[in-house]
This record gives sequence, C-alpha cells and structure tokens, in this order.
Amino acid sequence: MSKVQGYAAQKAEAPLTPFNFERRDPRPCDVQLDILYCGVCHSDLHTARNEWKGTSYPCVPGHEIVGKVSAVGKDVKGFKKGDVVAVGCMVDSCQSCPTCKEDLEQYCEKGTVFTYNGRDKHDGSLTYGGYSTQVTVDEKFVLHVPKEFTEKDYPGVAPLLCAGITTYSPLRHWKVGRGSKVGVVGLGGLGHMAIKLAHAMGAHVVLFTTSPGKADDAKKLGADEVVISKNSDEMKAHKNSLDFIINTVAASHNLDPFIALLRRDGTMCLIGAPEHPHPSPAVHPMISKRRAIAGSLIGGIKETQEMLDFCGKHHITSDIEMIPIQKINESYERMLKGDVKYRFVIDIASLKN
Ligand code: NAP
Ligand code: ZN
Repeated sequence: MSKVQGYAAQKAEAPLTPFNFERRDPRPCDVQLDILYCGVCHSDLHTARNEWKGTSYPCVPGHEIVGKVSAVGKDVKGFKKGDVVAVGCMVDSCQSCPTCKEDLEQYCEKGTVFTYNGRDKHDGSLTYGGYSTQVTVDEKFVLHVPKEFTEKDYPGVAPLLCAGITTYSPLRHWKVGRGSKVGVVGLGGLGHMAIKLAHAMGAHVVLFTTSPGKADDAKKLGADEVVISKNSDEMKAHKNSLDFIINTVAASHNLDPFIALLRRDGTMCLIGAPEHPHPSPAVHPMISKRRAIAGSLIGGIKETQEMLDFCGKHHITSDIEMIPIQKINESYERMLKGDVKYRFVIDIASLKN
C-alpha cells in the first residue's frame, strides 16, 4: 500500500479538509500515477455536498486528472514509468456487457465504477478521486496525453478529461460540423469547452448566458454570437433556427425558451445535472416540430482518447485558473456564483507543502 495525501469532505455540510489514506499496490493490469493537476468540476461540488444523494464519506472528489506514471503492474502493455497520462471520470466497468463492448463504458449495464464515490469491482472499497497525490487505475481506463502537449499545457489538459469529453461526445453523436448552428447554454467549465470544440468542428456557435459580462470572452473562445438568455427579444431572433443545443446549466430552469429556438427535428441535449429537476417542458412545441430533449453522460474511453487527440491536433486546452488545494472551498463558492474563468485546476504540488 502507498500513503497518499488528499482533501476530503467528511460529510455533506462540512468543508473539504486534509485527509491522508492508502492506495492499493498496482495489480497486474494497473497503472499507478503521481498526480500533477486535477480540474474542479461542478460535479465534485454536487457530490461532496450530497446534492445527488448517495454520497459515501469520506469523499475525495476529482476526475480531471493529469499525472506521471510512477509504477506499472506486470501485465501492463500500453504504459511505462515516466509517461504523462490522464484519468477521467471512470476507473473501471464490467468490460464485457454489450454496452462496454461498444466502447460505451460510461453506460455499463453492470454499473460503471466512477473515479470517486464508486466501489472497486474487486474489493468493494470506496474510490477516491484526484484531489490527492497519487492514484492507481486499470490501464484500460488510463489515457495517453498527446505528444503535441508540452509541460506548460498540462494544467489546461486536465479539464479535457470531463468538461472536454462531456461536450465532445454529444457534439459528435448529433453530428455537429460545418453548416450546423449550435447553441451552448451556460458559460462555465463545460460551456467554454463546448464553444471551443463546436467551433473547431466548423459549426456556427451561439452562446446563451445569464452573465452579460462573459460576452467578450465567449467571442474569444469561438462563439459567433452571444445572447443574454433573460432578454426575450434577443432570444426571439434565434427562434426555430438551431440544429442542436447543448445545455450545461448546473441549476434547475425553464427549458421552454430554449426549445423554441430549435428548428424542426432539432435536439437539445441536457448535460448539466442540477440538484433539483427542471420544470416539465411544454409538450406542444415539441410535437409541432418533432423536437427532442436528450441527455448524455461523459464519453467512453475510446472516444475520450479520440477527443484528446483532436484537442492535440487543434491546440485546444481549457482556460484555467490554477489554485492551491487550500483554496478548494473558496473555489466552490466562486463556482456557485459563476465566478470562474473557466475552470479551476488544482496544482497538486500544493498538497505536499
Ligand atoms: P460551472 O462551471 O459551474 O458552469 C455552469 C454554468 O451554468 C454557469 O457558469 C452559468 O453560466 C450557468 N448557471 C449556473 N447556475 C445558473 C442558474 N441558476 N441559472 C442560469 N444559469 C446558471 O459547472 P460545470 O462544471 O460546467 O458543470 C455544469 C453541470 O454539468 C453541472 O451540473 C455538472 O454536474 C454537470 N456535469 C455533467 C456531466 C455529464 O456527464 N452529463 C459531466 C460533468 C458535469 P452563465 O453565467 O453563462 O449563465
Ligand atoms: Zn466532471
């Protein structure tokens, strides 16, 4: 076993505090990595505070991990000591059900093992995430950081592992590309990656935000147009025109104004996962134009590698604000106020101070 330093929530109402624990020695198929950087996802906050219910404590969040391989099990083929690698939202799945066989481990029929608040398939232990100095993961769930990225890029690569893949996967599934008009709702961690990726895929991108102060940034990130979603005249200008909307909002809200923007056969994909459900949408606007509301969960391992390679090729990383782990509770409060440009990333070296 190796001794690991981390930060954990001990209960829903408590701030995160230092927490030391042990990680298993590598099993034959395991890769052990020293964590360099870990992004801060809104899901970390939802889970640490038990907003989705079902959180087991202590809870060590973190699923946007970049690190350096420190040891490998005897059967590991794809990685060696010193490689720069990444781990995202999953660390295991059954790997044998029809869904896993289709490279969609995030929808594993026997239950995906998530990077934190999951249960190890072999020994039933609680999984602990990337707010820690080290992690040990089955090599099938470890990603290669593309060679185009150098050391200075690594902090901005970490958020690709959740914010990147969670937006890339639906953009690909709904075949966004040149000629598509895509709406992105909410400019936070996921939203800013959705803009960058949809722009790189060649789409015309419209950001819908509640924060007028983010308009200039959105344009720099690649949005062609910015709409203040509370302004009904601005909203009306896009009525019946969007092929696809990716909705990243982390709070319950009225979906109807966005459904009205879809063209016939358009889809709004919900990826934001608020604590409380959205009010039920009006049915008639959906029936009258065969519009759809869908959902999507992260992306499979094969597609995550494809997304990383796409980002390497297009020089896409996340816009980040680096924090020491000691500022994690403050960063959660700022995230709730929409005050993040556009992802906090923890410098894990700060855990060793
Ligand atoms: P984030 O950085 O906090 O961004 C969320 C954005 O939503 C905010 O910046 C804000 O954008 C908008 N927003 C927040 N509260 C709002 C409110 N009350 N009314 C209107 N707009 C509001 O969060 P994130 O890390 O991107 O995560 C977003 C959501 O996705 C979370 O619920 C998270 O758990 C979920 N998530 C889902 C998956 C998945 O697989 N489906 C994966 C990761 C995360 P504006 O200021 O521009 O309005
Ligand atoms: Zn996440």
